[in-house]
Amino acid sequence: MTAILLEGAVIAQHVYAQLKERIRRLRADGVQPGLAAILVGENSASRIYLKNKAQACNDIGVHSEVLRFPADCSEDTVFTTLEELNANPRIHGILVQLPLPKHLNSDRILQAIAPAKDVDGFNWVNLGAMVAGHTLLAPCTPLGVMTMLDYAKVPIEGRSAVVIGRSAIVGKPLALMLIARGATVTVCSSKTPDLKQYTSMAEILAVAVGRPGLVDGTMIKPGAVVIDVGINRLPGGKLVGDVDFESASRVASCITPVPGGVGRMTVAMLLENTVTAAERSVAASSK
Ligand code: NAP
Repeated sequence: MTAILLEGAVIAQHVYAQLKERIRRLRADGVQPGLAAILVGENSASRIYLKNKAQACNDIGVHSEVLRFPADCSEDTVFTTLEELNANPRIHGILVQLPLPKHLNSDRILQAIAPAKDVDGFNWVNLGAMVAGHTLLAPCTPLGVMTMLDYAKVPIEGRSAVVIGRSAIVGKPLALMLIARGATVTVCSSKTPDLKQYTSMAEILAVAVGRPGLVDGTMIKPGAVVIDVGINRLPGGKLVGDVDFESASRVASCITPVPGGVGRMTVAMLLENTVTAAERSVAASSK
């Protein structure tokens, strides 16, 4: 079997086309969705991520701004900025680019973003809503995975799904989203003995760990849908996922590549959340 490639770039373009239409309707009501990002310090990867996000905003007509602070800025400065952004009617989405310098408490800072503007979906209000079976603003990467599965018309209800990785921003929310759609979900972590025992039963296998080659073709059920969330840079500079693409793509029915897979969807979902937040603010102000 040669797996069908689930290309994030193609699926993201489909998402952007739908977003442009939603933005056109918002602008007819006099509203342009606005996204503000806070960047603390000089992390070059963060700068590149923010540049890509700003470019995507520009392409589809979302206003975007980046507020930059020196690496030694105080937590109070970040809190004051968040208060201003929370109250700014032109800004519908706020993100704090991670990682933050060590002296800043990421958890406390993320909780200071108004849940209605928390377009990364990291605020506990938004994460907690998912536990209760509601989605307000969901974390972008797992939301991107679900969008890819839906785009490829992968049946979810009644399927057995395995998620490797249990982080609060990828693995756990993805598991909750799959549960909400009626999959039977197993979550594996570094504490799981014999990963293969679980992966080989998965009809949908999502890997979000950060270890190149963690999963290979011998661990995959023939015909499974394989979603590789991992992003790893090898010593030579090559970017790879957590799944050994060559062996896995001979066994899976569908597979996401790295690069060009889930990563493209994460930015698209950030913009989708921003547009959703803007639509909700319009609906709330017309009540
Ligand atoms: P994280 O917070 O470091 O979590 C990694 C998870 O993997 C943990 O739950 C850990 O288990 C588990 N794990 C570690 N070693 C394992 C092993 N040998 N077997 C099974 N599980 C193992 O990372 P994250 O933020 O969730 O990100 C995961 C990966 O996705 C990274 O490569 C990251 O770069 C990538 N990522 C990609 C995107 C995208 O847009 N494509 C977005 C976000 C993240 P324990 O909990 O037991 O430690």
